Amino acid sequence: MEDLYQILGVSREASQADIKKAYRRLVREYHPDTNRDNPEAEEKFKKVNAAYSVLGDPEKRARYDQFGTADGEGGSPFEGGFGGFGDLFGDLFSQVFGGDMGGRRANPNAPRRGADLQMSVGVTLLEAANGVARNLEIPRWESCVTCGGTGAKPGTSPKTCETCGGRGQVENVQRTPFGQFVSVNTCPRCQGRGQVIVERCPDCSGNGRIRKNHKVEVKIPAGVETGTRLRISGEGEGGMNGGPPGDLFLVLDVERHRDFERDGGDLHSRLLLSWPQAVLGTSVDIPTLIDGEEKIEVPAGTTHGQVLKVRGRGMPRLRGPRGRGDLYVHVFIDVPSKLSDRQKALIVELAQEMKVPVPVAASEEGSIFDKFKKLFD
Ligand SMILES: [Zn+2]
Ligand SMILES: [Zn+2]
Repeated sequence: MEDLYQILGVSREASQADIKKAYRRLVREYHPDTNRDNPEAEEKFKKVNAAYSVLGDPEKRARYDQFGTADGEGGSPFEGGFGGFGDLFGDLFSQVFGGDMGGRRANPNAPRRGADLQMSVGVTLLEAANGVARNLEIPRWESCVTCGGTGAKPGTSPKTCETCGGRGQVENVQRTPFGQFVSVNTCPRCQGRGQVIVERCPDCSGNGRIRKNHKVEVKIPAGVETGTRLRISGEGEGGMNGGPPGDLFLVLDVERHRDFERDGGDLHSRLLLSWPQAVLGTSVDIPTLIDGEEKIEVPAGTTHGQVLKVRGRGMPRLRGPRGRGDLYVHVFIDVPSKLSDRQKALIVELAQEMKVPVPVAASEEGSIFDKFKKLFD
């Protein structure tokens, strides 16, 4: 989808007046009347009109800024951005754009719930394991305090619309040879509200709502995963006509950790042992993600690639059974690649003592651990 700001040739910070100015200029330039038989200009003309239908309306523009689209049609604004939880889309659309889009509104003066907002929040694996509080700044529409959301200048009040007499609808009567047809349409002057604002509120320009950066502290619980969606009740956009605010949804993105790989509730780590340690067995202190050092026993005869399980040292569980996952420690055995002559002689002696084949030559390449480390990364 082409960027609507680019189509109008304005920056994202452009004022409504600037957007209107750019629109008027482009419409003159590409108008079909002055560009006869020029399909390119016609195409451009359509695009400019479509872009202005969104950016020219502060509310639709805000929605576009937030979600990359102004309505529920014409492709998902979440495409690419939030892969992996597709079944949430339908759900989210009906919430974000619910009631407001398409179809006729029964009563435009009735209280309407504010739109839901969605935001992506990144946390480290450590924060995901411990839980964390985050201060977020959310750009959203809030009810204008100055006018109480009516849009009318304080001290004044909206007047009954003269065009429709306050009914919000106008009747068009058409006489045809087959009889008289009456069609009822939303009043073009008051957009169905039945009232018009005579003097606009100076703070919200008659909008009834103001765009603000709202600060909110959210608690992210321990155990969240990438794709986890948290609902923060009542922190979405302000309602209209005294309606309740929408909700804020946070979609978590958990960073990869250098030393611990996550698999649901379990963690995986690596442990490098010398081959004498692996052969004879030992006890070693291993790092855990949130429990400090932990002493584990390495049995004699441990082989490369063997996995040692440390119960209960994985991630806390967000849902389901309480408790923690496990930590799986993958053993890597460091085989030295550079040995002194004396060391080589001792190993040869050991091999002869053990009656195992004596190696022909020592490799000068990197150790096995380095190779496996590359595969692991
Ligand atoms: Zn106001
Ligand atoms: Zn009217």
